[in-house]
Amino acid sequence: MKDNGGGGQPQCESCNAPYVSGSVVCSYCGALTAFGAGLQQRAALRAEDALEHKAEQQREQERQEAEERERARQEAAEFARRQEAMRRERQGEEEERSARHALRFSIAGLFCACFPLSIVALVQAKRAARLAAEAGMPTRTRVAVATTLGWLGLALNVCILGAGAVVHHQENQRQEELAAKLSTGAAQEKLDRQTACELLELHLLKRRGDDTRPFHHNFNCDGSLQQDGKLALLRVSRSASDPIPHKQAVSYACLERDSAWWVRAVGDDIKCLQTP
Ligand SMILES: [Zn+2]
Repeated sequence: MKDNGGGGQPQCESCNAPYVSGSVVCSYCGALTAFGAGLQQRAALRAEDALEHKAEQQREQERQEAEERERARQEAAEFARRQEAMRRERQGEEEERSARHALRFSIAGLFCACFPLSIVALVQAKRAARLAAEAGMPTRTRVAVATTLGWLGLALNVCILGAGAVVHHQENQRQEELAAKLSTGAAQEKLDRQTACELLELHLLKRRGDDTRPFHHNFNCDGSLQQDGKLALLRVSRSASDPIPHKQAVSYACLERDSAWWVRAVGDDIKCLQTP
C-alpha cells in the first residue's frame, strides 16, 4: 500500500491513479487496492482460521466418538463378565446339588438294594462330574464316592436278583423231584414219616408266595407221626437254618387220605385226630 504524502488520497499501485479511500479495486485499472488486498488477506486468514477451527472441531468430535466407543466396549465387557460370573455361580450350585443327590441316592440304592435308585445316583454323579469339568473345577470326592456306591448298589442288586433266580429254580426242581417221588409213595394206606415229611415240604413249597402267613419250608423231620385211619398227625421242629423264628413256624401237619395222602392243615395249634 502506498500513501502519497500522509493524509492524501491513496494511489493505485498499478496505475498510480488516486482512488477513494475504502475502495477495494482501482476505478481506473480495476487492480486490487492496498485496502482491497488487506481485505482479501484478512478474508483468506479468516477462511484459514475457519478451516483450522473446523478441523479442530472434527478432531474433537472424533476423540469424543472414540471415547464413547471405548466406554461402550468396556460396559459390554463388564456386562459379559457379570453374566459369566452368574452363569458359573448357577452352574456351581447345580453341580453341588447333583453331587448331593448322587450321594444320597447311591447310599439309599445300596442299602435298599433297589437298582433304580443306584441308576439315578450314577446319572447324577455323571452330571456333577460334567458340570465340574465345564467349570474347570476338580470333581468332588463325594461324586467319586457316589459313583462307587452306585456301582456297588447295582452289582449287589444283580447278585440278589441272580440269587433269587437260583433259589426259585432250585425250589422248582425240588417240587418236581418231590412230586415224582410222591406219585407212588403217597398212595399207600399206611403213611410213613418220610413220605409225610415230603408231602409237608411239597405243600409248603407250593404255598410259598400265595399265603399271607410266612410259612417256611425248612423244618426237621424228627418228630412223631400218629395215624388214625384216614387221618395222620405229623410233628416237626423248626429248622436251625430257619432265619425267621416266627410264631407261625410249622410244628404240626394234619394229613388226610382220599385216593392219596394230602396235607389238610399246618400250624402250631390245629385240630386233626380225636386224641392227638
Ligand atoms: Zn489503477
